[in-house]
Amino acid sequence: MKSHYRVVVIGGGVVGASVLYHLARFGWSDICLIERSVLTAGSSWHAAGGFHALNSDPNMSALQSYTIDLLAEVEQESGHSAGVHMTGGITIAASPERWEWLRAAYRSYQSIGISDVRLISTEEAVDLCPVLNPEGVLGGMWAEREGHLDTTGTVQAYARAARQRGAEVIEHNRVLELHQRPDGWRVVTERGTIIAEHVVNAAGLWAKQVGRMVGLELPVSPLKHHYLLTEPIPEIVALGRELPTVVDPEGYTYVRQDQQGMLVGVYELNPEHWAMDGAPWDYGMELFQEDPDRIENELAFVYGRYPVLERAGVRSWVHGAFTFSPDGNPLVGPVRGLPGYWCACGVMAGFLQGGGVGKALAEWMIHGEPEGDVYGMDVARYGDFAGNREYIRQTTGQFYSRRFMITYPNEELPAGRPLKMAPAHDAMSAAGCVWGESWGLEVPRYFAPEGFVEKPSLRRSNAFDLVASECRAVREDVGLLDISGYARYEVTGPGAEVWLKRLLATRLPPPGRVRLAVMLSESGHLRGDLTLFNWGDGRWWIVGSYYLREWHMRWFETHMGDGVSLRDISDDVVGFAVIGPRSRALIAALSVDPVGDLPFMGCGQFDIGLIRAHVGRLSFTGELGFEIHCRASEHVALRRALVAAGAESRLREIGFDATHSLRMEKSFGIWSREFTQDRTPRQTGMDRWIDWTKGDFIGRAAALAERDGPPPERVLATLKIADTDADGSGYEPVWQGDTLVGFVTSGSYGHWVGASLALALIAPEAAVPGTELTVHVVGEERRARVVAPSPHDPQGRAMRS
Ligand SMILES: Cc1cc2nc3c(=O)[nH]c(=O)nc-3n(C[C@H](O)[C@H](O)[C@H](O)COP(=O)(O)OP(=O)(O)OC[C@H]3O[C@@H](n4cnc5c(N)ncnc54)[C@H](O)[C@@H]3O)c2cc1C
Repeated sequence: MKSHYRVVVIGGGVVGASVLYHLARFGWSDICLIERSVLTAGSSWHAAGGFHALNSDPNMSALQSYTIDLLAEVEQESGHSAGVHMTGGITIAASPERWEWLRAAYRSYQSIGISDVRLISTEEAVDLCPVLNPEGVLGGMWAEREGHLDTTGTVQAYARAARQRGAEVIEHNRVLELHQRPDGWRVVTERGTIIAEHVVNAAGLWAKQVGRMVGLELPVSPLKHHYLLTEPIPEIVALGRELPTVVDPEGYTYVRQDQQGMLVGVYELNPEHWAMDGAPWDYGMELFQEDPDRIENELAFVYGRYPVLERAGVRSWVHGAFTFSPDGNPLVGPVRGLPGYWCACGVMAGFLQGGGVGKALAEWMIHGEPEGDVYGMDVARYGDFAGNREYIRQTTGQFYSRRFMITYPNEELPAGRPLKMAPAHDAMSAAGCVWGESWGLEVPRYFAPEGFVEKPSLRRSNAFDLVASECRAVREDVGLLDISGYARYEVTGPGAEVWLKRLLATRLPPPGRVRLAVMLSESGHLRGDLTLFNWGDGRWWIVGSYYLREWHMRWFETHMGDGVSLRDISDDVVGFAVIGPRSRALIAALSVDPVGDLPFMGCGQFDIGLIRAHVGRLSFTGELGFEIHCRASEHVALRRALVAAGAESRLREIGFDATHSLRMEKSFGIWSREFTQDRTPRQTGMDRWIDWTKGDFIGRAAALAERDGPPPERVLATLKIADTDADGSGYEPVWQGDTLVGFVTSGSYGHWVGASLALALIAPEAAVPGTELTVHVVGEERRARVVAPSPHDPQGRAMRS
């Protein structure tokens, strides 16, 4: 062991070994991995070793696909077998809802290029897995690249390949402390102190403690998990070939062949947390006593699904623990305020995701950003609130118990809620508000009569008519929307203007004006679709999506300028928007100030009722509209004043489900759907907001190269889809004849224009208005036509009126 390294990776499980391998593979030297015990001594050694290409999040599917493809390469490079059994796998559908979900999922996999997947009949499922009892099975999905591997062999293969590229692996040496230095980290270990530029927390079951070494409360907890291994089963011995892996989501179980018997794993509805503060340091390679009572219902089910199990003896039980984040996805990337400290933890399925995690993190460390859009596993998708123990207990437990359940696009899950509530929350609840959740905050979805219960579905839900009437209110009269769920950052100081000019690719608004602001990365990819307010008194506000607060702040702080003071004021400043043709009269009636005279995209401070408000004249719906920002303590009073004054204007409280439909009618994109960090300005039309004349800004050279280069492979287009009882929700494939030309990024029924609408990233040749295409919505082929952007009010007269 040396006294200095460029990188110290803490933890020798599958994730740490993959990070080490990728750093070495991408060219970094002077790197080491430090392991408390021996490689695999956390949860890695006793994993079931199953891998599946498929995940309900297409970005995670891509990551898993990469990991599977990598295995052969790592085996070849290292000369060490990972013991891969590429058996193929079946996900069976034992309910009409699952069968519909599988048909839709099959199409979304096509969108992201996973083509070795197909739907199969029940008969084919039984042919492939003759021990399966077909009773109640409606069909399944077959995936070629599924199977299982030797867990210890895989970790050793990664580590050996890394060593061959010059990396060091140091076992039997616990990292005890981490201390920040101006140039990196002082790493105190049992065998001496190391100075490192970067440290990586790949400590798996101990990630919590390695976070706490630097004052970080990571939202992660271990949960216990069982699988059992049977004695040889004569029917399997007689088969003469290996069984595929089978996931039975309705039964909460997965199975595969193990030697001549079966391995049966259970995701029970009644999960058990373990060592929420991280595993004890002396926890070795031991297992917990099995607890069949906890999984008895699921076991009864699996014995019915595979009757051969009734006659098979149990050879052994494996009852171990592994870590979960609130949404079950890994926690990866740099941590705000801790330069050189990187996370690669919370990896629930290390053998199917570890390769992708290692690749993304190594790219991030070496090149400053990963190649793909890794927001779904970025540690910055959570904030401090998620470090709360009870929040972690509820959300990780919810994820575990729902591991095999369908979560619908319009479904809101209950764990960890309600946590943050805007002051007018209770009054809005009394008015019938149905809430969604964004980064711990309750946000309005729509308003419903008492006793209404939404039935989640891949198709339009029973809230359809409620949302339709809110859309109508906005287009005809005036809607009232709680906009507490915006992120707001206040920028002041002598260096503010210079910094904003460099940070944003857009021309800065003059005093008293608002402008849409594009933010780019150095490589010319999108980093933000923000709104910039210039209040004219030296204060600027950057406004964006609430759930991106930690992610934005990490970016702002790592790109900070001199003489700038930056404050996240999102919890202090809240507000309401009034939107619709009658909004001007409404707001003017509440003020003696000339607020009604604000020009389009103007902003200023006005008295609204009793409140000294900050008002901007803009809306995200294509209507005349005003955003009224106030202090949190004034939120209730603001709502009361607006509701009282709005009675005459037929004011209607609305939620974000309506604004989603209204923005689709204007072809307005949003972050995470149309705009993501792996897309570019020209692809998404965001280039129209770039000021090419203003001098340097982050990403300028790359954006210029894109502007002057060949056309992008895909561009954003608006589609009208033949109307049924379902709309696009994202990742539906778009076809021109038999050719896949792209995929849907957002979809909704346009209640005002009366058509099912979608925004889609498609080949430029197919994006010409009038082009006839098809789209698979909920797995069914629908005719679609490209239409000119903004099916409602294309000239923008209403919003400028
Ligand atoms: C019963 C069971 C079945 C599973 N089945 C599957 C499956 O089929 N497929 C799949 O993909 N996943 C499966 N998993 C999950 C899988 O095991 C984990 O996702 C994976 O092991 C996580 O790897 P890791 O490297 O993040 O963590 P770990 O394997 O926990 O590794 C962390 C390492 O860090 C070391 N360490 C911690 N702190 C320090 C320190 N301070 N100093 C030095 N070293 C330190 C530890 O000793 C340990 O070796 C299963 C898990 C269980 C329990």
